[in-house]
Amino acid sequence: MKEARSLLIWNRVRQECSRIEEKLALLKAEERELMERRRAAEQKITSIGTPSDDDIDGKINLALAQQELWLVNKDEERFFERRFTEESSLREKKREKEAEAKRYKAALSADTLALYHRVIDLIPDNPVVEVRRRSCMGCYLPLSAAQMEEWERGRRLIVCGECGRILV
Ligand SMILES: [Zn+2]
Repeated sequence: MKEARSLLIWNRVRQECSRIEEKLALLKAEERELMERRRAAEQKITSIGTPSDDDIDGKINLALAQQELWLVNKDEERFFERRFTEESSLREKKREKEAEAKRYKAALSADTLALYHRVIDLIPDNPVVEVRRRSCMGCYLPLSAAQMEEWERGRRLIVCGECGRILV
């Protein structure tokens, strides 16, 4: 069944897209964290102000805050350099994957898409699996004789009687 093949690949490509999105979100989180550190260090420096000559603790605290700010600057430099290359390659990959997903999705019927969305709501992890050695590759349990026969006939998509994943 050609549609089953498309469904399997489409699902895989969709998962790849979400992994790319997760990586992009991680970069954003890293940037927020650096901004937070910078803000905290700058605030500390402002609140310390200019310690008087005999204020040893104040001088130490100021030196520590300035050192933290220097470290933040270094970390930011490294981060922005890395982000520049990482982000553009992730975005490029995402565009490719999205175009690929669109191609495979076009081969899927409305019924298949509805079934897919029903199953993925219940089983977000791995909703589409292959049948190998007469078993479901999601739960690894053997298919019943009737299910196996229906799967071999390949007239319509079936779900595993044990775990509910779509069998392709
Ligand atoms: Zn199963």
